Formats: sequence, structure tokens, C-alpha cells
Amino acid sequence: MDITEQAKTILQRLLARGYEAYLVGGCVRDMIMGRAPHDHDIITSASPAQVKRIFDKVIPVGEKHGTVAVVENKVSFEVTSFNSLEQDLSRRDFTVNSLVLDIDGKVYDFFGGKDDIRNRVIRTTGKPQRRFREDPLRLMRAVRFAIDLDFSLHTGTKAGIIENCHLIKDTAAERVRDELCKILLSSSPGLGIRMLQEYGLLRHIIPELAECVGFRQRSRHHNKDVFEHTLAVLDNTPGTLNVRLAALLHDVAKPATFSLDEKDEGHFFNHNIVGEQMARVILNRLKFSKDTIAAVTSLVKEHTSRYARLSTSGIKRLIRRVGAENLDDLFALQLADIKGSAAPSNTGAVDRMREEAASILASKEPLGVKDLAISGRDLIDMGFPPGPEIGKMIKGLLELVLENPEQNTREKLINIIKEKNK
Ligand code: ATP
Ligand code: MG
Repeated sequence: MDITEQAKTILQRLLARGYEAYLVGGCVRDMIMGRAPHDHDIITSASPAQVKRIFDKVIPVGEKHGTVAVVENKVSFEVTSFNSLEQDLSRRDFTVNSLVLDIDGKVYDFFGGKDDIRNRVIRTTGKPQRRFREDPLRLMRAVRFAIDLDFSLHTGTKAGIIENCHLIKDTAAERVRDELCKILLSSSPGLGIRMLQEYGLLRHIIPELAECVGFRQRSRHHNKDVFEHTLAVLDNTPGTLNVRLAALLHDVAKPATFSLDEKDEGHFFNHNIVGEQMARVILNRLKFSKDTIAAVTSLVKEHTSRYARLSTSGIKRLIRRVGAENLDDLFALQLADIKGSAAPSNTGAVDRMREEAASILASKEPLGVKDLAISGRDLIDMGFPPGPEIGKMIKGLLELVLENPEQNTREKLINIIKEKNK
């Protein structure tokens, strides 16, 4: 196992002062598995004060847990102080995360982590009940590691999750959000959300989504219930956050908007509009940022736009509503939605919208009022009285320009106004 030179330097400097120092946690697990670690965490018998004296750049990150960040050549290493090595390791969540490695490549394994890596098992370090009660975020971390590493959960650990699933409610929304994001951004988001559901966690995190489980669509366009369809769509999206969140929530309002027609065919009128509102409530509750909420709710609202057979001006309005920067996500969501529904998979409408949107954006055609060659101010200067009429005239001009971009010159628009008001 190769410890990076940089991590080695830090260990060496601590060892040279007579302290113990090891690599710990995820990086050791990843090195044993032959995966590239994305960071290197270190534990040492030196106190944070002593660590500060040894290195030039030390930033306090979690000093009450005895953790500081040591920055060397712009790379930051978390260095945590311990009194007893075994005691530090016993506080870590899972056996596969409770391994340490010394500078010579020797692994110290107090809790059977190596065997669990070999058998591909996630198992709590210590009794599941106690460990999950201490920090219920571990309920979600267990699911995340299982899908990320493609491990299964040890029987007792799984039972512990099921028994304690309600405790996730007591965890700070920000921590739940971050863990949910990691699950969504993994290579198996659908499996991750399925596990959250099966172990009882989902109904405490996003109860609205748990309502979708087993909800039959009664429609020839769908061969799956709402939840199964959602998971399929999720697995068909590219791995970026907004589109994954939108996939997760795009049909969340289906149970609330369900109706049957006289032919016994199911419909979900306005589920995109109601879904937009529900998504906002959910994302706010989970303390997502304003920008994320704005983008994701608009994706949920517009996910049905592929049915609308939009005209050119309709596509321009769509671009304005969704934002040019979110268009790729919208089309990716729509394609994933099609793939996750019953055959035939007809992507024609989406392909056409995508092409037309691309050409509209490339030719920089006007999309909104601010792209018009004249403004309300200009109309007032022409002698029209300030008031709501000005707004209406501007809207009328925009309608015209959306269909006929070549009309968007100052001269032409002024002439049009003069003609109309003769
Ligand atoms: P990743 O590869 O995702 O970074 P990781 O194992 O490094 O995985 P981190 O969340 O970065 O996970 O945490 C680093 C280490 O700190 C873990 O390996 C584990 O030993 C310990 N740890 C982190 N969070 C907890 C927790 N909530 N409870 C107990 N131990 C934890
Ligand atoms: Mg880590």
C-alpha cells in the first residue's frame, strides 16, 4: 500500500517529535480495497496545541473533538488527537472505518474491519443500538457506505437501523441533507433511496415520497408504481445534484393529484404544479440553498413541458422560466423520465425542443423584456403616460419579437407603436 508522499511527510514530522501518528478511517479502508482515497485523515498522540507548534499552517476545524487541519502545499489534512488509540477507534462508526495504518504500511485492526472488508460487510463498531442512538446520522451513513462500496449490511446492523429509524428525525437537517446528497450523487442513487425506504428512514426524511410507494398509476404509459418509476428515473439521470433532486421529487404530487376517468384510466392533472410546491416545502425543510430550491422546483414544474408541443415562442418562454443554465438538466430529466416509463420510448419531442433551444440560444434571439430594443422609459419619452398601459404595450412587443426576432430594432418597434396608436 502506497501512502502518498505528502501524507508521509506529515506522519514523519509527528513521529520525529516522538508522537504516535497514523492514517485512519476511509483512506485506510480505500487503500486496502485498492481504491484511490480522496483525502487522508491522520490521528496522533500529539495534542492540538502540540500539532500547531510543529506545522506552519494549522486551521482549527473541530477543536472540541481535537481535530485541526494541517495545510501543506495547499493540501489539507485533518489531524485528530487521541489519548488512547483503541478508544479513538472504538468511537468510529463502522468497523471498515476503524482501521489505522502506520508509516511502514502496517494495519492495526481492533474490531475486525479487515475481515469485514474482505466479506464486504458494513457493521457498527460496537452494539448497533448504542451506536445509532449516539448519532442517528450513522443510520444514513450505513446506507451510503453500503451503496458506495457495494457492501451489504451486517444482520445486526440492519436490524439496528430498522429499529431506530425514527431517530433520524432528531438529527440536524443540514447533516441529513448532506448525507442525502451523497446518496443521490453515488453511482446507485436508486438503490440508496430504496434502502432508505426499506429500512424505514425515508418516511422520516421525506414522508411525501414514502406516500408514493406502491401507488399504482393505472395508466398504459406506466408499468411501475410511482416510487419504482421515481427510482428508475433517478438511475437514468446524470450525476449532478439538481437533476438528481428533481428526479427524486418530479412525481411527488402524483398521489395527491390522482383521478380516474370513466374508462378507469389514471390521471394526475397538475401534478407538476402541485409537485413544484411540495418540492419547495421538502427542500426548505431540508435546508437546501435558495439557488438549489429555485432550480429544482422549476425543473419539477417544467418536467411535463415535453407534452406541450411548444411553438418557438413557447420554447423561448420556457428558457426564460427555467433559465438557460438549467436547460440541460431539464432535458436530461425528461429523457430519464421517458426511459423510466413504459415503452415505446419516444424521445422525439425532447430532442426537438433541445435542438430548437440550442439554436435559439446560439443565435442570441431575444427571450424577455430586457432583451427588447426599447424599454418602458422610451415609451414614456414618446409621450405615453406612465402606468399599467406601458407594461401591456411592452408585453405586446415582446410577444411579437418572440415570434419575429428580426423586428427587434429600436426603429421598427417605435414604428409599430406609432402605427398602433395613430
Ligand atoms: P469518504 O470516503 O466518504 O470520505 P470516510 O470514511 O472518510 O468516507 P468521512 O465522513 O470522511 O468518511 O469520515 C472520516 C472518518 O471519521 C470515518 O471513516 C469514520 O471513522 C469517522 N466518522 C465520521 N463520521 C462519523 C460519525 N458520524 N460517527 C462515527 N464516526 C464517524
Ligand atoms: Mg473522508
